[in-house]
Amino acid sequence: VEVDKLVTARWIIPVEPAGRVLAEHAIAIDDGRIVAIEPARVADSQFHARTRWDGPEHVLIPGLVNAHTHAPMTLFRGLADDRPLEAWLAEHIWPAEQAWVDTEFVRDGADLAVAEMLSAGVTCFGDMYFFPDSVAAAAVAAGMRAAVGIVVIGFPSAWADDIDAYLAKGLAVHDRYRDEPLVSTVFAPHAPYTVPRSALERVRVLAEELDRPITTHLHETATEVANAIAQHGGRPLRYLQGLGLLSDRLVAVHMTQVDDVDLDLLARHGVHVAHCPRSNLKLASGLCPVAKLLSAGVNVALGTDGAASNNELDLLGEMRTAALLAKAVAGDATVVPAPVALRMATLAGARALGLDARIGSLLPGKDADILGVRLDGVHTQPVYGPLSQLVYAASRGDVDSVWVRGERVVADGAPLRCDRAEVIRRARRWAERIAPGPVA
Ligand SMILES: [Zn+2]
Repeated sequence: VEVDKLVTARWIIPVEPAGRVLAEHAIAIDDGRIVAIEPARVADSQFHARTRWDGPEHVLIPGLVNAHTHAPMTLFRGLADDRPLEAWLAEHIWPAEQAWVDTEFVRDGADLAVAEMLSAGVTCFGDMYFFPDSVAAAAVAAGMRAAVGIVVIGFPSAWADDIDAYLAKGLAVHDRYRDEPLVSTVFAPHAPYTVPRSALERVRVLAEELDRPITTHLHETATEVANAIAQHGGRPLRYLQGLGLLSDRLVAVHMTQVDDVDLDLLARHGVHVAHCPRSNLKLASGLCPVAKLLSAGVNVALGTDGAASNNELDLLGEMRTAALLAKAVAGDATVVPAPVALRMATLAGARALGLDARIGSLLPGKDADILGVRLDGVHTQPVYGPLSQLVYAASRGDVDSVWVRGERVVADGAPLRCDRAEVIRRARRWAERIAPGPVA
């Protein structure tokens, strides 16, 4: 049988079925899709491949899915560190956004984010930011997948003046990218405390009509929950329940505050959680009870959040932090073992973004979004188990090759379609404009 590509490796971890590690196997790829995963010898006799790639010291896994980020905020990386969330947002990030965000800022920030994420093995990201058309264009140019946000927020920005404009412009982006296989859209109301009730109701109706996910910041801090109780007489999750927003469409980002009723609501309605451990740690937002959520059957995906609160878009690092933090929060070293952590970084993110029929695991019929990680560094020796090594010892510097829809977009750790020098030059130019002197 003729196929486009045969990709072989010492190990393949398909994520489905859970915990499986295949040794000396090959993935046959044709027309951007996985045709078969077979022992390398069998594949060699079965397929005639036009191109071939071998990873003798590599493990192949599904491309990583960053379920929550604000890609263009890479240009604010390191601008306002070591501040609590409320002051960080109100005194630094929102004023900087009012002053600087335009289509050029978003394009340059998204190019930087896409180059960083691809070289760290991320093949798909869920985004929430102004000018989502520019974010989508950056992803497509680099050969990467993006679920861009139809962002809605209750104050004007350079992108849109009011709720009507946010929705109309976001829907136009949805239409423009309808036939682009790398781009999908998600409704992205910023948070219940920044989006009016009537706008949330419209988002619910539109998301049902267009069959799209809805992602929103939710229960990020104890202060947010306390303010909502004072304002609406209830916790934000229950406020959204009253608006009919709890369903398997909803991706609740953060959820550091989860009481027993919240846990029951999340599980019963199939709400996904996008856990952003490093952002929560850096802003001291709180601790997401990941083990409790997982044992209640909640789908928990992983996100980096924006680079202004992390400060890196490194999902392998995020995955390790998530595994370690979950154990500390639960007081139980057995929770979030390596296979579960890897699933959170791949298939769970794909499910949250409504893309699990196409990506998130290595199965025949799915798109060939594949990450090849080297396991021959001194810091990953010896290899008793590649899954353990991947989660607890490997880092983004070990990323070797990345394929998206069967096309190789990263080789030797470098994104092939990104102009690295130009991306860095433009990021530096923005920094000179935003903060001409040293940042306190
Ligand atoms: Zn966020």
